[in-house]
Amino acid sequence: MLIKNNDLWYSEYYMDDDVKWSLKLEEVLHVEQTPFQKLEMFKNETFGVFMVLDGYTQVTEKDEFVYHDMICHPAMAVNPDIKNVLIIGAGDGGTAREVSKYKSIEKIDMVEIDEAVVRACQKYMPITASVFDNEPRLNLMFADGLKFVKEAPTGAYDLILVDSTDPAGPGEGLFTVGFYQDCFRVLSEKGILINQHEGAFYEGDIEEMKKAHAKIKKTFPIAKVFGFNTPSYASGYWYFGFASKVFDPVADLKAEQWNKLGLKTRYYNTELHKGAFALPNYVQEILDSVEV
Ligand code: SAM
Repeated sequence: MLIKNNDLWYSEYYMDDDVKWSLKLEEVLHVEQTPFQKLEMFKNETFGVFMVLDGYTQVTEKDEFVYHDMICHPAMAVNPDIKNVLIIGAGDGGTAREVSKYKSIEKIDMVEIDEAVVRACQKYMPITASVFDNEPRLNLMFADGLKFVKEAPTGAYDLILVDSTDPAGPGEGLFTVGFYQDCFRVLSEKGILINQHEGAFYEGDIEEMKKAHAKIKKTFPIAKVFGFNTPSYASGYWYFGFASKVFDPVADLKAEQWNKLGLKTRYYNTELHKGAFALPNYVQEILDSVEV
């Protein structure tokens, strides 16, 4: 945090350190060193309340809808028969909120390592965290996602959503081959994994994207990447991985069936779905350069 002209500013330095993203703070709501990470909740006039973990922006009230639409709906539009969902991380609640929109889903297990994140979001960010108070299918566990999938039964889930922090600190283990292999074992025959795939603009993010992609390609027969515009993340454009045992995310899209559900979404639609997997050449070249 920086005081300039009596204004308090929060800044995040992007991987290259000569670039930073700064928000003028209206309020410092919460600062806590938890057993796992530094947790800060701030308020900015434009982005509203936002959460920072270990110095990195995680979620803001202004643009959370993009990230949470895109972590959940693409997989549900490819396999509307998904019944059992495992969410890893996602302590702000936004991912569980979107999953809970599907009446056809029977079980939502969520494994978040840091209870302090959930409690802070329940207090300061009800837009995402209110799901924790009103979703009976949600089984929230405070544990390490890495250990959880290692011990989970084979074939127990149809969909795994990895909404973790970056590959450092508590989130590091969630970017390992061992973790992806355990996810493969824990997924059912038609299982789908959606994982963090970082960014493709700043050098540091590109290295993490390549590392994640190499490990996913080693583990899943189908490993695609899709992008979305999230202004509060480095370069404003971020990526998820779509790792799958049988479904191709574009060829197997069930657009008509998904549209018949009549779900209200602010970012996702089935036309955008196809576009999200149509990557720019420079991104495709980064992924094609990955040796498995
Ligand atoms: N959307 C954000 C992003 O892309 O950076 C992530 C938001 S979510 C708040 C990330 C959550 O992952 C945090 O609450 C963090 O505590 C949790 N987390 C990190 N490592 C974890 C682990 N090994 N097991 C379970 N949860 C973990």
